[in-house]
Amino acid sequence: MIKIAVIGIAGESVFLSVDKFAKIGETAVATDYHAELGGKGFNQAVAAARCGARVSFLCAAHKEDVDKFKKIALSVGVKPFFVGKEECSPYAVIITDKSGDNSVTVYHGAELSAADVECFYDEIKSADILLINNEVPHAVNERAVEIAKKFGVKIILNPAPYRETKKDFLNKIDLFTPNEHETKGLEEYDNVIITQGKDGAFIKSLGELVPAVKIKKAIDTTGAGDTFSGVLAFYIASGKDLKEACEKASVAAAIKVGKRYILDAIPTIEQIENYNV
Ligand code: ATP
Repeated sequence: MIKIAVIGIAGESVFLSVDKFAKIGETAVATDYHAELGGKGFNQAVAAARCGARVSFLCAAHKEDVDKFKKIALSVGVKPFFVGKEECSPYAVIITDKSGDNSVTVYHGAELSAADVECFYDEIKSADILLINNEVPHAVNERAVEIAKKFGVKIILNPAPYRETKKDFLNKIDLFTPNEHETKGLEEYDNVIITQGKDGAFIKSLGELVPAVKIKKAIDTTGAGDTFSGVLAFYIASGKDLKEACEKASVAAAIKVGKRYILDAIPTIEQIENYNV
């Protein structure tokens, strides 16, 4: 069975719909409310789990939220490693307007430390792929990468949100999955897949663009990149080549974009495999 270890944040994501974004100093009235557990790492973990991988996920949360969040993770097939902290759990507000554009504000709250990675040591050691992103402190990713390297585990970094990162760290990454705004500092690397929204995903090493899958209407693009990275990790771990893995990830991301919110919109492997492109 494919095994993927994911590190990131998880907390309540609140989705509000508005007709028009409020300008500075204005108040907008939301026409819809929805809340679910989210965070780049958590979404990516769910995406890989829905493909059938055994996924373990490390994150931090307020100590009183740990049991509640663990139950949610288990209910979506993710093996949880939630480290309890005094600080509030992460919290995100996602506001979407009528055209589907969105604005996201994230409060990171409780954060992992490099020492917290030790409880995840065996999960990284036995994984086919370690999938990380920039929503956790850099020291956390550094320790996780050190463990992965020791045991020859492949590392995928979704460098989101962008932060300046030293080369000696970047050199250890097997594959990067930035969007167009997160490619700074990666110019000299070839092992990069740049997601380009409705235009598709560019595989730098092949110089090839995998076009996005055409859908009737883009309903909600939040979490498209996370779905892409989680599904990509699964197919690469399954032995597919970069192009085929990218095609599957594009199908998965398009299915997600055709539905509202994130958790319920992330497809299963059957939905991906049976999708008529
Ligand atoms: P987010 O931060 O919202 O998760 P992102 O900016 O990291 O997203 P994008 O580049 O917007 O990621 O999208 C990731 C992938 O999702 C794209 O490469 C593409 O395959 C798919 N995708 C995005 N938008 C659309 C769309 N309108 N139609 C079809 N596929 C889409």
